[in-house]
Amino acid sequence: MMVPNSGDFSHPDTLAVLAGRGLAGAELAPTLYPTTTFRIPSLALGRQMALDPTESHYYTRNGNPTAAAFENAMAEMEGAEAARAFASGMGAVSCVVLGLCSTGDHIVAQRQLYSGTLFLLQAVCPRFGIEVSFVDCAESGAFQAAVRPGKTMLVFAETPANPGLELVDLAELGAISGPFKVVDSTFAPPPITRPLDYGVDLSLHSATKGIGGHNDATLGVVSGTAELIASLWAFATLQGANAAPFDAMNGLRGLRTLGVRLERQSASAQDLAAVLVDHPKVVSVSYPGLSSHPQHDLAARQMRMFGGLLSFDLVGGCETAERFVQHLRLAQVATSLGGPETLVAHPASTTHAGLLPEELKGAGIGPGTIRVSVGLEHGDDVVGDILQAVEQA
Ligand SMILES: *Cc1c(COP(=O)(O)O)cnc(C)c1O
Repeated sequence: MMVPNSGDFSHPDTLAVLAGRGLAGAELAPTLYPTTTFRIPSLALGRQMALDPTESHYYTRNGNPTAAAFENAMAEMEGAEAARAFASGMGAVSCVVLGLCSTGDHIVAQRQLYSGTLFLLQAVCPRFGIEVSFVDCAESGAFQAAVRPGKTMLVFAETPANPGLELVDLAELGAISGPFKVVDSTFAPPPITRPLDYGVDLSLHSATKGIGGHNDATLGVVSGTAELIASLWAFATLQGANAAPFDAMNGLRGLRTLGVRLERQSASAQDLAAVLVDHPKVVSVSYPGLSSHPQHDLAARQMRMFGGLLSFDLVGGCETAERFVQHLRLAQVATSLGGPETLVAHPASTTHAGLLPEELKGAGIGPGTIRVSVGLEHGDDVVGDILQAVEQA
């Protein structure tokens, strides 16, 4: 009997099932290697192992077989040569930023960013003499225009952006020459978008979200060329934000069902967006699948599905938002996204609470902005619950 080989298939849903099995034997489920260390056969080999970015049987901070299975699976999904897993999405983000940039370097980033990334770029980078220019990601040519030849080391993008769902034109981003281009693609995992196909250098995810998909893994991952991942590895082993084997195992388990979960979440989110967009208590809805999204054509070009995330603005602001969440019966208020449960977040009072009013505005967040991560419940129940809470808000 043939063992199915991921190299024979290209559909992302099939790849997700087959990917990352290179290290495995006949077992079908991911294998957990909690060991922190491994017997070294000889000192000469030990020296090799200590210096090899792909070595998974030396010391777990450098690499681990469970993490490697997840990394290899993600690399296959992304169409990349290599990947590195991290203890969280922020572990991945901080490794890319601080591993690639030095004092005197310049970064171009978008204003609409996950709050942790925004704080790292705004508050930590200047402490190390790394200057950051922020641009509007939806404005054509904005990233390119902010690049300073010879000085810009990194262009950092996120698409769709958290929480406002603005998009970055990946073909335009990939065409920038000089700096490394990195895309945080957490809102559009590989069955939706593969940034590397557009000439981007690194694709990054908080696998804590949709990839892990069950709210039981805190995990990050970065994919790219073997050379670039190896140079990140050198910093990553010192940074120490390596993926825990247990979380990498859950990440790989989650990846197997990613395609079907995204289909359900995308279908329900589309229905929810369509209902909210006409509602008198809703000022605006941002969902890439709506024809009213200012970048809907771009979304249709670079997203295979539109995803389970949407945001909307309630008429009224903070007090209305408070009444809205008090009336929810199915959706729950919690940070994070991409899991089985429909989750609602109010960025102004949680993830982005540290921002000044003008920064909130720049990030596209108002006092009445609600972000919904549509879960795996039946779409009718999700739409019904959000709608009744909006009506009573
Ligand atoms: C959650 C998130 C992160 C950070 O990931 P953690 O796993 O929480 O560290 C980064 N980027 C985006 C877009 C996110 O949603």
